[in-house]
Amino acid sequence: MSNPQDIPPNLVRRTPWPQSVSRAVGTPLQPSVVYASESPDQLDAQYGGAVRGYTYAREGHPNADVLAQKIDALEGASDGLILGSGMAAVTAALMGLLGAGDHVIGGDQLYGRSLRLMRQDLSRFGILTSLADPTDPAAIEAAIRPETKMILIETVSNPTLRIAALPEIAAIAKARGILLAVDSTFSTPRSVRPLEHGADIVIHSVTKLLAGHSDVTLGYVACANPEHRRAVYDFAVTTGLTPSPFDCWLAERGLYSFHLRYDRAEENAKRLADHLAGLAGVKRVLYPLRPDHPDHNRAVGLLGARGGNMVSFELDGGRMAANALTRAMPDLAFAPTLGDIGTTLSHPASSSHRAVSPEDRAAIGISEGFFRISVGVEDIGQLIADFSAGVAAAKAAS
Ligand SMILES: *Cc1c(COP(=O)(O)O)cnc(C)c1O
Repeated sequence: MSNPQDIPPNLVRRTPWPQSVSRAVGTPLQPSVVYASESPDQLDAQYGGAVRGYTYAREGHPNADVLAQKIDALEGASDGLILGSGMAAVTAALMGLLGAGDHVIGGDQLYGRSLRLMRQDLSRFGILTSLADPTDPAAIEAAIRPETKMILIETVSNPTLRIAALPEIAAIAKARGILLAVDSTFSTPRSVRPLEHGADIVIHSVTKLLAGHSDVTLGYVACANPEHRRAVYDFAVTTGLTPSPFDCWLAERGLYSFHLRYDRAEENAKRLADHLAGLAGVKRVLYPLRPDHPDHNRAVGLLGARGGNMVSFELDGGRMAANALTRAMPDLAFAPTLGDIGTTLSHPASSSHRAVSPEDRAAIGISEGFFRISVGVEDIGQLIADFSAGVAAAKAAS
């Protein structure tokens, strides 16, 4: 009889995983922070790259690699990196590759935190920045200086859904030896694969459409040049921008249905955009594939038939109409995010663009009646009924 006070040898030490002739169908989740090597010789070989082996989770782990390989396949990229958030991916791409005295040009309608990085943070490290309109290749070209090392644009801008002149900007960058980084979160690889258009770096907030369920924050960055990849990787590992295994596991699970979600959401978006355009009380609708979109021709050229799941629209009324709209659609999440499986609605004037002055907002067409919809996979009849009720309530209130 063992004494209840005895500690069995396998209590503290890890027990081997039970043997099974059948295999698990689901992807295993591996939360281990450290990996034990057999000997110093083997560890040397691992660090030297002669053999492949994990060492410490901040430097890499299987769940991140499984996820990266899937996004690589979608993007036509190789050796992509998974980082702790979309902003970690943007930060690692910029700060891993730029140094004091270098200049970077950013699109003038970048994601809010990317704009802040451009306007406030990079300069504290001696990295010079300027902003230019990525729908106008001449404006980008005019912003180039002798010390310009990188251009960062988004394929589809938030929330006005302007389409960047990606191939033209890639040609300008290539001719001058400048790196082109593209944040392709809104369009996803199902619409456009920036590396095929001459980009050097592609970035995603995996948080959004790729993971698709609003339960993880992750980012992805892939570089065409392995030396750039190494620099971005080392910066991310040193500064701890690396992801949690559980988040990677959840995102990989979400990715199984990415193509189905995207196709359905996009189909819904097209139909909802046309429906909204026909409603009294709606001043204008922005959807890249509608002929009245300011970048319609470029959208068709770059995205083909893939207009994506994002639709923006403007009510005739102001804040009162906007309040009436969200209150009339209580089942629909009024939340400043995008890419969820369900439809979400955001109001840039009170969220993403609240720090922008009303005059500057007006200059890019964002009024108090402006909304952005991230269309989900619901039944289209339900969405049409919800928005019809919302717009009718907004019209009555204005
Ligand atoms: C959300 C978003 C980001 C930031 O991603 P997080 O995962 O929230 O850090 C960057 N770029 C674009 C275009 C985004 O929509």
